[in-house]
Amino acid sequence: MNIALIAHDKKKELMVQFCMAYCGILSKHNLCATGTTGKLIAEATGLAVDRFLSGKQGGDQQIGARVAYNEIDMVIFLRDPMTELPIEPDVAAMLRLCDLHNIPIATNIATAELLILGLDNGYLSWRDVVNPKNSKKGRII
Ligand code: PGA
Repeated sequence: MNIALIAHDKKKELMVQFCMAYCGILSKHNLCATGTTGKLIAEATGLAVDRFLSGKQGGDQQIGARVAYNEIDMVIFLRDPMTELPIEPDVAAMLRLCDLHNIPIATNIATAELLILGLDNGYLSWRDVVNPKNSKKGRII
């Protein structure tokens, strides 16, 4: 599966801890992330992470475009609910695209854990039908 990882600044440490905790599961999948989030994850875990631009430079939108093209199977977007503009529109745009294309998205750590455990239990295997490219492990970008 193709998993996109994004974390706002105040949630980056939590994202790294999450990826360390679930490294075994994540390593079986293709990971992509916004620039800084991906760099931190790769450095801390050694996981291969394809990195888009940083969020501030449009990385969220690059991932959103992949969602629209049905190339992303799950999004974990750890948002900082205490920060408002200018990041709130990015979250809204990603939620809209995921809702439009029925892509599972977690915006907090509790839901992220459910999604990753569900993924490991095969509950997202329907995505292999919707996105047959998943059957071959390959790079997203
Ligand atoms: P970043 O982007 O990983 O490059 O910091 C995330 C964001 O803030 O949207």
